[in-house]
Amino acid sequence: MSEEISRREALKLSGLVLGTAALHGCGFGDANAGATPSADTNTMFYSLPAFDPMSDPVARDAMRISFMGTSVIERRAQQRSSVFVELGNGDSFVFDIGSGVVSNYVAMGVPWSRMRRIFLTHLHGDHTSDLTHVYCFGPQGDGKSPLYLFGPSRSGVRNPDFVNGAGSDQFYNPEYFEDGTIDFAKHFREMNRWHTESQGFVGTRWNAGPGGPAAAGDGYDIYATELNWKTGDSSQRWATSRNLFANPGFTSGKWIAYQNNGVTISFFPAVHGRNGSISYRLDWNGLSMIFTGDTKPNDFLLSAALSGPRPVDVLISEMVVDPDVWVTKQSGITDTSSPAYQAGMVNAEAVQVNSHTPQMAFGYILSQLAAQGRAPRLGIGTHFQAEDDTNEWAMTDIRAWYPGPVTIGFDLMVIDVSAARIQQRRASVSDYSWSAKWADPRQVNATFAPKYADPQQCNPYHPMGPLNQFDAYLLDAVIDPCRYDKSGFMCVQPYPTATCKLPTT
Ligand SMILES: [Zn+2]
Repeated sequence: MSEEISRREALKLSGLVLGTAALHGCGFGDANAGATPSADTNTMFYSLPAFDPMSDPVARDAMRISFMGTSVIERRAQQRSSVFVELGNGDSFVFDIGSGVVSNYVAMGVPWSRMRRIFLTHLHGDHTSDLTHVYCFGPQGDGKSPLYLFGPSRSGVRNPDFVNGAGSDQFYNPEYFEDGTIDFAKHFREMNRWHTESQGFVGTRWNAGPGGPAAAGDGYDIYATELNWKTGDSSQRWATSRNLFANPGFTSGKWIAYQNNGVTISFFPAVHGRNGSISYRLDWNGLSMIFTGDTKPNDFLLSAALSGPRPVDVLISEMVVDPDVWVTKQSGITDTSSPAYQAGMVNAEAVQVNSHTPQMAFGYILSQLAAQGRAPRLGIGTHFQAEDDTNEWAMTDIRAWYPGPVTIGFDLMVIDVSAARIQQRRASVSDYSWSAKWADPRQVNATFAPKYADPQQCNPYHPMGPLNQFDAYLLDAVIDPCRYDKSGFMCVQPYPTATCKLPTT
């Protein structure tokens, strides 16, 4: 056993050097690989066939899983956690929306209107940060319908700093924190108040028209469904508008977050961080996928993968590098006897004990499913710093337990799943894409009047009121556009706010 481990360690340490040296001068003729060949690359990913996702949409009977963020740390090659699932029936679902991932959604041509149902596995920043971007900018594009948010209930973990007898006060002396998804949504809504009001000079809700009925609410409306990590209850709801409660467009139930249009998204507990992490399973058209989010290896996952009539098609599990790899890569320290290395090891091990699925555990989980004839058609490890050497070590650990189909997630990896086959490809996209094209059919409709509408017909942008939220103190200081561009539209078509607002005689 110890001999086995020491061999593994040696492989890792030599790999740290060899993996780098072997790849020098090895350039990939692909825009996604970056402008210059790098010592660090991901051959496993770049070996996949490339395709253009915008000219090759998901087939009617298939499920497409696109990896929009696959890293646990911040790095240019990989954004943080997010998986986008598109179904042949036209539905689409976002699972986690970590920092940086929106740029990948945009590059993949995903319009805001297809990112309105977001399922959070837990409330760590690397799984939630880009919600800010989706929320703030979606309604400026074609995301002019409410945002439906799903996530775990409060942790119920007692605050160790609570002072008994000092009075329970939610801000200064909370015994329990308001740390559930509804709490998150309420604070999130207010956190973004200045943003949403400031952009309220354009219409942010689809009106009825030839493209379809009016949106159920405004693009800045949120409808949050809280999923109890312990009881499976999904009845706790909160919305920014009472109107949204009447018909949210889906049903839910015990351990079921969402059910509509033939799609069922169920949830089950995960063991990660503290109470309150969950994992999801999506079933549609006889196809299924599981996304664990972040978790320690656990029996809930095994049960979820064993439920249903068939093996799960795609099992996406988080996976963490071994602590020694993390410390060496992170710090560059290879002297394992140095105090800094040892302190780093204690930290990395504690993080793994608190939070994550070791590579070998992922292999073990797959082997346990295989032993019951329920191996997934494809296992995918993600939330992982995927590069040639770490990929190799991870596959060695996984293979110690499981010989079946496994790959490692990377940004822009696309998995097409049908009854007949599972196809792995990588999206070839532009690094210079603009916001995705609008796709909501209601884009041909008018929107409801902007919140900060200007009723004055003499405003050339009527009903939009782009100057309505400025104090005269500021407007009086604006340089007259005719001074710098006499033929520009702002000179030719002045927006005479002050004149407009004077009563006409
Ligand atoms: Zn996490």
